[in-house]
Amino acid sequence: MSRRLNRMKKKIAIFGSTGSIGTQALDVIATHPDKFEVEILTAHSNDMLLVDQAKKFNPNAVVIVNEGKYTAVKEALAGTDVKVFAGEKALEEVASFDTYDMMLAAIVGFAGLKSTLTAIDSGKAIALANKETLVVAGDIVMQRAVEKRVPVIPVDSEHSAIFQCLVGETRNKIEKVILTASGGPFLGKKPNFLVNVKKEHALQHPNWNMGAKISVDSATLMNKGLEMIEAKWLFNLQPDQIQVIIHPQSIIHSMVQFEDGSVKAQMGLPDMKLPIQYALAFPQRITSNFPRYDFSRSSALHFEQPDIKTFRNLALAGEALNKSGNMPCILNAANEIAVYGFLRNRIGFLDITELVERAMDKISYIPKPTLEEYFESDAEARNFAASLINL
Ligand code: NDP
Ligand code: MG
Repeated sequence: MSRRLNRMKKKIAIFGSTGSIGTQALDVIATHPDKFEVEILTAHSNDMLLVDQAKKFNPNAVVIVNEGKYTAVKEALAGTDVKVFAGEKALEEVASFDTYDMMLAAIVGFAGLKSTLTAIDSGKAIALANKETLVVAGDIVMQRAVEKRVPVIPVDSEHSAIFQCLVGETRNKIEKVILTASGGPFLGKKPNFLVNVKKEHALQHPNWNMGAKISVDSATLMNKGLEMIEAKWLFNLQPDQIQVIIHPQSIIHSMVQFEDGSVKAQMGLPDMKLPIQYALAFPQRITSNFPRYDFSRSSALHFEQPDIKTFRNLALAGEALNKSGNMPCILNAANEIAVYGFLRNRIGFLDITELVERAMDKISYIPKPTLEEYFESDAEARNFAASLINL
C-alpha cells in the first residue's frame, strides 16, 4: 500500500485488547482494513490471546502488564517487528508514543485511569469505554481534554446514544438525559431472592455479553449508577438532569429531552460493535453488516421505574453523584473490591452494597480533590473494603 493511502488510515491503540470491548473492536477493525490500523495492543494476563492478536494485526508495540508473562510473549513474537513491553508503567510509556491517532480505553476499572490521562496529555483522541476513569476523576479528565482540545467519544452504549442524539445540537440546551437500563438478570427480584444468588447467575446478562466486572455491576445496578456519573462529566449535566428508566429490551440505548420538550432517542439491537465502530470512525458513519432491528416483527417496548429500595447501589451512586468531590471515587473503589470478593465467592450479592455504603461512611470526604488525592482516596477505600472481607 502506498504511503499516502496508509496515512489515511486511523491508527488505533487498544488498551485492554483481550477483553470483551477490545476483542469486539478488533473485529470491527478487521472488517475495515482500509480505514483503521492497529498501532498498540495491551493485555493484563491473557498472554496467548495478546500474541494471537499481535500476529494477526502486526502492531508497533504490545504491553503485557503481568510481568511474569513477558518472556512468553517476547519469545512468541520473536521474528516479528512487534516491540514487547511489560509492567504497569509500560502502559503510560506506550500511551505517550506519538505514533497513533486514537486510544480505545478498554481496560476495566481504576487501572485504566493513568494511561488514559497520558494519552490525553499527548493530544490523542479518546474512544472511552472505561467509565471508571470518569467516575473517579471526571473533573480532571474532562478539564485536561478541553485544555488539550482532545475529543472524548463515549463507547458505553447509553452515552454513545446521547452523543449521537446531540450531533447538530451544540447550541441547544439539554433539559435532561434519560439513561435506559435493561435491569440486568435480576429484574423484578427482591432481597429474599438476591441473598442467595451466586456469580454464575449474576454473570448471565439477558441482552449483553460483557466482561465479568461490568456483568456483576449490571446485575446490582451499580453499572447504571456509574453511568449517571459518567454522563454528568461527558455532557456537563447537573444531577437532576439525569434520569434512569428500566427498558428491558435494550432497543432504545438512551434519550435526550430538549427545552422544547422534544425527545431524541438512538435505537438498534443491543450490540457493542455499533458504538465501538461509531467512536472509532467518528465523525463518519461507516457501513456495517450488524443485524438490523426489524420494527415490523417487534413486540412492545416497555419502560418502568427502577426499584432503588431493592437495588440500593443505584441510590448510593445517586448520593455520590450529588455529593461529588471524592465520593464517586470512594464508591467506585469499594465497589471494585466488593465485586472482586463476590466473584471469588468471598461475599454474597447483597454484601456488595453493604461494603460500598460502609466505605462511603468511613473515608474522609474531600470536596475538590487533586489527582493525588483521588489516588489516595481510591487506595484508602480499597484497603478499607478489603479489610472488611479479609482479602
Ligand atoms: P473485560 O474484563 O472483558 O476486559 C478488561 C481488559 O482490561 C482486558 O484486556 C484485561 O486484560 C485488561 N485488564 C484488566 N485488569 C487490568 C489492569 N489492572 N491493568 C491493565 N489491564 C487490565 O472488560 P470489558 O471489556 O467488559 O470492559 C472494559 C471497560 O469497558 C470497562 O470499564 C467496562 O465498564 C466498559 N464497558 C464495557 C462494555 C461491554 O459490553 N463489555 C459496555 C460498556 C462499557 P486480560 O484479559 O489480558 O487480563
Ligand atoms: Mg452501558
